[in-house]
Amino acid sequence: MMRDTHDEARELIAVGHAASDAQQIWLRNHLEECASCRDYAEGAAQMVRALRSLPVVADARLVRATQMRVRFHAARLRETRERMWLVGLACLGVGLTATLTLPFLWRLFAWMGDQIGVSTLVWQTAFLLFFIAPALVLGVVLLARGAHVKSHKQGSWQW
Ligand SMILES: [Zn+2]
Repeated sequence: MMRDTHDEARELIAVGHAASDAQQIWLRNHLEECASCRDYAEGAAQMVRALRSLPVVADARLVRATQMRVRFHAARLRETRERMWLVGLACLGVGLTATLTLPFLWRLFAWMGDQIGVSTLVWQTAFLLFFIAPALVLGVVLLARGAHVKSHKQGSWQW
């Protein structure tokens, strides 16, 4: 007889709010007296809460992860743009410097060739090597940077 009462109580707990008012009142009275059914009811309630909160937690985590990914991507794009701007500025600076110093260097090499007593061809070749070397180095550096930027942008060559 007692066993049937507990079973009935647990059934009503499972049914929840679908139980009639009379049944809910009876269940409340039983839970006040019976510790084991009270534990059962608490366990069931916790389970329901956990099940209800689970998808919400997953959604929030997914949203946060997605936001972080988007923010990370935006930051990386901005970084790439800034780096390209710096490279452009460096190119402009080097170009300006070269243009300004070219005539001066040319005259300097001519003067040195004259002082050392080598032929025009020799000092002009030396001048060419001296002038080309930094450009070569810069070219290699920029190519390496370009490859770096390219790998970040996953295969597009439009920088
Ligand atoms: Zn009970």
